[in-house]
Amino acid sequence: MPIVQYGDPVLRKKCKVIKEVSEEVKALAERMIEAMNDAEGVGLAAPQVGVDIRLAVVDVSHDPECISFLKINGKNISLEEMENYMPLVFINPELELLKPDLSEKEGCLSIQGVQAKVKRPSVVKAKLPQLDGSIMELESDGLLARAIQHETDHLNGVLFIDRLGAATKVRVNAALKRL
Ligand SMILES: [Zn+2]
Repeated sequence: MPIVQYGDPVLRKKCKVIKEVSEEVKALAERMIEAMNDAEGVGLAAPQVGVDIRLAVVDVSHDPECISFLKINGKNISLEEMENYMPLVFINPELELLKPDLSEKEGCLSIQGVQAKVKRPSVVKAKLPQLDGSIMELESDGLLARAIQHETDHLNGVLFIDRLGAATKVRVNAALKRL
């Protein structure tokens, strides 16, 4: 499944709320997980495969140390158990963002070759509706909190390059023009 690249208008769309999880949506989620794994990414949102619906996948299990804690549905999950919950697949996410902000390097499978530090809240409390109709309540930090915010941004047509500081933006603009 090809990943849509920077410049495609679908990346700027405010994606539609998913009212019903059809077989099509489930099949799309499966293909997105494959595409994410093939590209060795930590997340992928539906608009990145050309579909403007509020669906995303995230997988940070390659590195349990990328977070310091994980709470799911009120239960503390050990970092060793974290991989049991990956890949995360969610629709219509609702996020509560908690301070302090942290600057960390980010990239995007739709903006190849560009990486830059992005300042974001370091802790997220997320309500992540699942494909089976249940709702996962997740609280975490580190790369997982960052990836969930990055993918949720995609569902609103926002890219990480929109969140750069002025100086970084100048540096990145030349690379973006080439794309
Ligand atoms: Zn991205």
